[in-house]
Amino acid sequence: MHIHQGNGRIPSSRGGRSSGRRGRRRVAGVICAAVVVVLVVGVAASLSLRVISRARASSTTTTSSGSTSLGSVSASTSAPASSSGTTDDQEYPATLTDSQRSTILARARSVAKSSGKTLHEYKYCVATKGDVGDVESFISIVFRTLNDPRGWPRAGAVFTQASTRCDMTIYLSEAQYMTQFASGCSENYSCRVGDEVIINLTRWNHGVDSWLDNGGTLARYRRMVIDHEVGHRLGHKDNETTCDAAGNRAPLMQEQSMNLRTCIPNEWPLDDELWISN
Ligand SMILES: [Zn+2]
Repeated sequence: MHIHQGNGRIPSSRGGRSSGRRGRRRVAGVICAAVVVVLVVGVAASLSLRVISRARASSTTTTSSGSTSLGSVSASTSAPASSSGTTDDQEYPATLTDSQRSTILARARSVAKSSGKTLHEYKYCVATKGDVGDVESFISIVFRTLNDPRGWPRAGAVFTQASTRCDMTIYLSEAQYMTQFASGCSENYSCRVGDEVIINLTRWNHGVDSWLDNGGTLARYRRMVIDHEVGHRLGHKDNETTCDAAGNRAPLMQEQSMNLRTCIPNEWPLDDELWISN
């Protein structure tokens, strides 16, 4: 699911390649889902939003809603090393050391460079909205998923987490706050609004029954929703391609959470989805 917002982004302290287009008027446009449109003016809720610093010692960032908050995330370096050459069902380890990050990024960059496509190096911030609990595993899974050799690196993209000047911000948000990002976002699904990629905590924790009942796992669902929503940020639209034959892997950009259309769950871009326009 995503919400079109032109090419604009919400003004904030964050810089990025789209900064020259900030002033552009927000354009509504709702894609996906039967959505309950609820406008919530949540002053109290906005105070619960924070942006997580890669430095981890502390973070200070002006949020998209204008509030400034301080947050800290404890670091953990005890995770076992593991390459990203996992099987589809395998869980990623919960945390990553800087050394592991470097290894994963180097492999992603190698895949991107050998793809024959234009190299895109994206910086992303990670943020939370509401009470989402510990985010270490979320941080790890986002990084591994985006840089997985089976994923967007095959289209020429690599992703590094940063604290400022991000090309996109990836949120983990309580479901009740989804509509604060845009009126067309749904409490039932994840969403993308401009440069903001918002992962719905309820979906993160539970997936979608129809997806899981057709052979998916929660670990794979998490990768699918990250890759799908970030795919919107890269220029892709919902259902630009759809299931071509029963039993085949569903296109990543098909709205798999809503309907697999007789295909099987798939969390990686298919060959004909390996392009980037934004
Ligand atoms: Zn979508």
